[in-house]
Amino acid sequence: MVVKTEAVVLKTVKYGDTSKIISVFTREYGKLSLIAKGARTSRSKFVSILNPMSCIQAVFYLKESRDIHLLSDASSSRVHKNIVGDPQKTMTGFVMLDALNTAVHTRESHPVLFDHLVEALDGLDRAERSPVNYLIAFLIALLREAGYGLKLDACVRCGGKLDREPLVFESQFGGFACGRCRSPDTTLTMAPNHLEALRWLERPSPEVWSRLSLEPVESLRIVHLLAGHLCRHVPGARRLRSLSLLESTVVG
Ligand SMILES: [Zn+2]
Repeated sequence: MVVKTEAVVLKTVKYGDTSKIISVFTREYGKLSLIAKGARTSRSKFVSILNPMSCIQAVFYLKESRDIHLLSDASSSRVHKNIVGDPQKTMTGFVMLDALNTAVHTRESHPVLFDHLVEALDGLDRAERSPVNYLIAFLIALLREAGYGLKLDACVRCGGKLDREPLVFESQFGGFACGRCRSPDTTLTMAPNHLEALRWLERPSPEVWSRLSLEPVESLRIVHLLAGHLCRHVPGARRLRSLSLLESTVVG
């Protein structure tokens, strides 16, 4: 069956002398692998558009019995030239892809999550400041769509207000415990402004995400919290390797 769908390239690997195998997250068919024959030759129409984070319209032969499908055509569907030229934005985008790759299994269709990813990449491209905010907003949405959403409105243990410092993140319960309920052996304390940041970036309106100003170290702390929560809950997940590269571009 020949199908056409929007896709975001997650990873590419060389195959043979001239081809590439690309892992893509598609809007209609979830995550799958495509072979782009001849994609590494200079004459190929694919040569400049099949890179990680590229947004494409892909046409391919979908064969239910196969793990790798044949890409017959691809064109660029959105251009994010401000991400490509900026190391911090590039690494921020790579963490989005890494987290998505961890959370989504092969051939699980998830159009809502696809739209969240594209929205986050579009916002990241346009962002004049606070690029990591787009990653935090994407991780919040990814966790929700993957079934590990955070509870941010009340203490996960007593249901009371989250107003006393320090708050403790309790990953097993998917949210924060108040100062009265924290267990003595927990170490992952968060300041109330981290909770406020999560509440702000949980809003489904990308135009407000960049208005939140966070110190780089604080935004990384929140990213670590969310990534750790994801890896704790997704079976077989490993630590997101892209995070250390993001750290080096954010704090040097
Ligand atoms: Zn409590």
